[in-house]
Amino acid sequence: MSAETPARPPSVDALARSLRSSGLPHPILVDIARAAIADGDVESAAARAEEFRRTLLTPIVNATGVLLHTNLGRAPVAHAQPARAQTVEFDLATGQRGSRQRAVGQLFARLCGAEDAIVVNNNASAVLLVLAALAAGRDVAVSRGESVEIGGAFRVPEVMEQSGARLLDVGTTNRTRLADYERALVRPGADVALVMKVHPSNYRVEGFVEDTSVAELATLDVPVVADIGSGLLDASVPWLQGAPPAWLHGEPAAVQSIAAGADIITFSGDKLLGGPQAGIVAGRRELVQRCAKHPLARALRCGGLVLAALQETALAYLDGRAATDVAFWRMAGTSVDQLRRRAEQIVADAGIGRVVDTEALPGAGSAPGVTMPSVGIALDGDVLDRLRAGDPPVIARTRDGMTTLDLRSVDPSDDPIVTAALDGLSNA
Ligand SMILES: *Cc1c(COP(=O)(O)O)cnc(C)c1O
Repeated sequence: MSAETPARPPSVDALARSLRSSGLPHPILVDIARAAIADGDVESAAARAEEFRRTLLTPIVNATGVLLHTNLGRAPVAHAQPARAQTVEFDLATGQRGSRQRAVGQLFARLCGAEDAIVVNNNASAVLLVLAALAAGRDVAVSRGESVEIGGAFRVPEVMEQSGARLLDVGTTNRTRLADYERALVRPGADVALVMKVHPSNYRVEGFVEDTSVAELATLDVPVVADIGSGLLDASVPWLQGAPPAWLHGEPAAVQSIAAGADIITFSGDKLLGGPQAGIVAGRRELVQRCAKHPLARALRCGGLVLAALQETALAYLDGRAATDVAFWRMAGTSVDQLRRRAEQIVADAGIGRVVDTEALPGAGSAPGVTMPSVGIALDGDVLDRLRAGDPPVIARTRDGMTTLDLRSVDPSDDPIVTAALDGLSNA
């Protein structure tokens, strides 16, 4: 503090008002001012306000090369709607109350080749609901190799426990055959309501391994639930030109799982589907409707914002616009040549960095161990903090003492932001 500063601290209100340029609302600034004064550290008030501002949900440029970055909200979704009432639970034909599942349910049923579908808050909710509605108090047969933990504390045995269903372990960690399931179904005391197949999304077991396909499981006498996780709609990816990209190999898909005989499938809305956070339950109408009517469905339902964004996503696929209108597929479908041209332009404009070949990742635990060829800009040293301090922040990654900005996860309209961020580094 300067010599003129009075010994008495400023009033809370005066200090709060002096922080107005932070853009934060007055009641928050009052809290910050009060805390700074109480700590006898009035001079830190502006820094505290800035620190608070940076805790708010903030749009960033994802230059990590991880397209579905769980910490960055997985699939980026554009969605706009005016503050206008919509037919969330209203039937236009009758003027009576309708179902919030109807619009989006019928679209996802069509997309999956299933009789019916409903949507809930996320895939963890979808699995919980399916188990609670179809297997509470009964056994669910799961391969020991699929009793997995998927990031963010989704653990099959624990979800099972919460649902009230009992986990019935089948086979071994590395090999589980149809005969193992057959034996489990007739185990003394067993009361098997479902067989559940879980895609071990974020890891891969190699070597002496064997699992049982949905088609084989469908020969059993009990309904088959397949948690396919990532939400790839169709393994033949008809919305992209040419053959399915190599990095998708082995990823289970909705259409093929239903066609192979799954009675129910569940998947996320914000992984390979490229939509908002949601969980989709699709399959046989009678089973889907039992899920829809279970009391938990009310607790796990989506709001109108998510329903509208999901509907937009579903319509983009059905209209054949997914390659351009679903941000994830736009990023995944960009050619290496296009990425290289953008990188060269940015480096030329910013006068810093060099163009390098990189490997991008689908992310969100989809397609583990596979990469997509990509192009980025490499900078010497670790400058992650400085890029993150920018406005808007740019999130990159480091390797071998170098910082890399991967362009596959950056929307081309954000290239000027990347250029300005690099320019800022060279001028610092
Ligand atoms: C990602 C995933 C989940 C959890 O889905 P959320 O949408 O994150 O709740 C569950 N099961 C599988 C197989 C997954 O890949």
